[in-house]
Amino acid sequence: MGVPDPPTEEPGTAAKRGSKRHGGTLYTRCLVCAHPFEANEQLAHMPHGTRVAFDPVRGRLWMVCRACRRWSLTPIEDRWEALEELEKLTRDNARLLSQTDNIALLKAGNLEIVRVGRAQLIEEAWWRYGRELTSRRQKYRQLGIAGSVAAGAVMLGGWATGGMSVFGIWLVMGHGKETVRDSARWLRFGSSAWYGRSSCEACGQELRSIPYSGRSSLGLFPGSERGKLDVVARCPRCGEYRDGGLRLTGQEAERTLRRVLAYHHFAGASERRVGSAAKLIQEAGSPQDLTRIVVRDGRRLGDIQRTGGIALEIAMNEATEQHLLELELAELEAHWKREEELAEIVDGELTPLPTLEAIRRRVAGTA
Ligand SMILES: [Zn+2]
Ligand SMILES: [Zn+2]
Repeated sequence: MGVPDPPTEEPGTAAKRGSKRHGGTLYTRCLVCAHPFEANEQLAHMPHGTRVAFDPVRGRLWMVCRACRRWSLTPIEDRWEALEELEKLTRDNARLLSQTDNIALLKAGNLEIVRVGRAQLIEEAWWRYGRELTSRRQKYRQLGIAGSVAAGAVMLGGWATGGMSVFGIWLVMGHGKETVRDSARWLRFGSSAWYGRSSCEACGQELRSIPYSGRSSLGLFPGSERGKLDVVARCPRCGEYRDGGLRLTGQEAERTLRRVLAYHHFAGASERRVGSAAKLIQEAGSPQDLTRIVVRDGRRLGDIQRTGGIALEIAMNEATEQHLLELELAELEAHWKREEELAEIVDGELTPLPTLEAIRRRVAGTA
């Protein structure tokens, strides 16, 4: 049936040379392919495995192999402490990445957790990208400090040696901070968001790039697919937008716009701003709806107010990541269904029912 043998409990097998911490004997190797489980730092009662799956209601606990992707059901007598610990971790410290009606994928440090049943977390997934924006703000500030320090150092150095380079003089003349920031931005993004070869439909003018410097006048229009946008660069010769210029669609538009928005918000955003932006997405209902609401029937990037722009960047990245996670989640759910069938047999045969019931109640908090 393609089903592996139930986990053997014989002492001394390779897989069982597990942690003796807290008396646990959880596996250190995959039961199917013997690939070693890496250490995690989040679980004292289950120190190995960086991807685990658990079902708090049925009292199941699996270690998921990164090599063969199969799930190893842990011995029932070693399960409950780790289960309690996991349930607490997912409730208090894990971030929800994505979920279906049956399983949720969460992350805590280097530990990926598949939890059977819907996770009840206040935190919504788009906070993940929001965090990237707030840390960008911190880095931007640090760059400012680095710039001031650099200017100071050049000034002192210049005095000490009796001479100052042209660059040094320019830095000291009040450009220090911005120069360092601009250089950092240029190093990361270059000068254009798109390169290619196209021509204006209205006047035939050849168009080869979309420079960041002209980003405010970029037109954003609803695309043919729901929640997708077209990006239109105005033609520098005839000034056409709607019936000319350079129109990017589909993935090309998406990639370009994500780059432009990251450039546009290079300074990041405050937590409060991210909070308001996340609320906008929440009220819109989904990242796709937010995109539709912000852009309406077409707007220039420069005309979108700041919170709306931040929300747009979060929504665009969220939608992309969500798509990848959904693919992964569908696969995980298929694994779970198969492994749960097997666990039901293994647990049912090897364990007296009262023990199982006790574990279940203890973890579910109904003991
Ligand atoms: Zn394996
Ligand atoms: Zn033109």
